[in-house]
Amino acid sequence: MSADPDCLFCKIIAGDIPSDMVYRGDRVVAFRDINPVASVHILVVPVDHHTDVVQLVAKDEPLLAEVVTVAGELAKAEANGQFRLMFNTGAEAGQSVFHVHAHVLAGSKIGIPG
Ligand code: C5P
Repeated sequence: MSADPDCLFCKIIAGDIPSDMVYRGDRVVAFRDINPVASVHILVVPVDHHTDVVQLVAKDEPLLAEVVTVAGELAKAEANGQFRLMFNTGAEAGQSVFHVHAHVLAGSKIGIPG
């Protein structure tokens, strides 16, 4: 398991920074985005620190699959199972936290984060 002591999401996963956590598994967690752009806006985040989705799939493809599975389960529990899944990848694409996370957007008023 890897963590970056300077990473905001590693601190949230460790419980050092508060969050509205909705799912906690061994390898994946999920918490509500503090700046929601949809009625359901959840971030699904691998516990291990990977910078972005490209690095994640290169290093640990099953973990990416688990992120997608958790996203689907949360969208089913919180909305009607229909959702948009977004990985902002790189600063120019709107990524502001460099610990890979999937934006799960569901319900009404779905916008684009980042
Ligand atoms: O894709 P991007 O890297 O911009 O997404 C980071 C997301 O993390 C933002 O949508 C921001 O609102 C969210 N965030 C959060 N809790 C924090 C800091 C940022 O939910 N403490």
